Amino acid sequence: MAEGMRVEPDLEFIKYLKNAGGDTLKKCYQCGTCSVVCPLSGDNKPFPRKEMIWAQWGLKDRLVADPDIMLCHQCGDCTAYCPRGAKPGDVLGAIRAYAYTHYGFPSGLAKLVSQGKNLPLLIAIPALLIMMVWWLSGGMFLPAADAIDFGMFFDSRKDHPTIISGLTLNVLLIDAIFVPVLGFAIFAACKGVSNMWNDMAEKLDVKSAFRPTVINFVTGFLVPSVTEILTHKRFNECGANLNRVKGHLPLLLSFIGLFIVTTYGMIRKDIVGMFVEGLHGPIPLSDPFKLLANISAIALIVGVGILWLNRARMEEDNKTIPTFYDWFLIVEIMTVGITGLAAELTRLAGVPMLAYLFYYLHLVSVLMLFIYMPYSKFAHMVYRTFAMAFEKYRESVFAKKIEG
Ligand code: SF4
Ligand code: SF4
Repeated sequence: MAEGMRVEPDLEFIKYLKNAGGDTLKKCYQCGTCSVVCPLSGDNKPFPRKEMIWAQWGLKDRLVADPDIMLCHQCGDCTAYCPRGAKPGDVLGAIRAYAYTHYGFPSGLAKLVSQGKNLPLLIAIPALLIMMVWWLSGGMFLPAADAIDFGMFFDSRKDHPTIISGLTLNVLLIDAIFVPVLGFAIFAACKGVSNMWNDMAEKLDVKSAFRPTVINFVTGFLVPSVTEILTHKRFNECGANLNRVKGHLPLLLSFIGLFIVTTYGMIRKDIVGMFVEGLHGPIPLSDPFKLLANISAIALIVGVGILWLNRARMEEDNKTIPTFYDWFLIVEIMTVGITGLAAELTRLAGVPMLAYLFYYLHLVSVLMLFIYMPYSKFAHMVYRTFAMAFEKYRESVFAKKIEG
């Protein structure tokens, strides 16, 4: 940290931490046990003891620009060994949640997603949007039990006519809703990460010695960080909470699987479907991508189920504090998995009303995941990756650290 940096205690921030699950921080008496057990702590970096002092002093600006806050993988070892019950792991979680709002773009939406009292509105926005498009498209009808086809969800016309270049109304409307929302979420996440990177560079006085090329950046900083995350190397160093690896890994793999399947579905229906007829219906069960979709959906439910039980058990044992930030993502992902699987099973069982109801709820929950991704705990994946990349960049020949 540069000398001479102005220290501005932020009482609002301390109040926020208390309300967001970090209300135990006042118990900390700086014994340093947490820094001894934390796998991220080094000789000249007493993490998270140093951050606990900063949090007690309300040093918001230092904390949000501290890469270690993002590198913490919430293993809970520090909390398990803290002799005062100060729950440093929870304090860091609350600071991270604050940072996503602090750096989030646009800030109004980031603030909306940060508070549990806004949940009805957070659900209502995508629910009404999908409902309105469904109603306007004329798709609100129930097909015969043997003709359930989610490719007709937004279109009641039995002959399945194409509108533009072989694309059906259903495909066009799905794309019109999800593609811009996903594009905006990616843009918002990039903007948030860029805000964080610039803030870290400024607060830590990391100047560029010479600029890395895009290839340097990707191969030198980004790929090693992503590899570390995918292999769960740091998670395996946990002592107190190994169950998180068992839940986190299948969840991560399921997201990769579903991403591959969604990309395949888009190429099949939206691109190849422009030239080849008959590609707009359900993907056959025999298709390997359908198999991957079903395996990924099961892995998603199993992974998030393990995290759910794990978290509930820890709360019961008073090892952590329930927060909106944690539960919002767990319940949201579980809803995506269960509604997707339920829609598929009720379609195969030939129950149109349930199949369409679950499919509608599935669309709403996926849209929620997309819209709120840059501000929810889901954003941790992106912020953490770039915080790790920042640490690698900071130590590299590309950066020069200005002391004093
Ligand atoms: S958080 Fe707990 S273990 Fe860490 S310094 Fe404070 S009292 Fe000690
Ligand atoms: S939760 Fe784990 S990684 Fe995070 S500060 Fe505590 S011991 Fe370190």
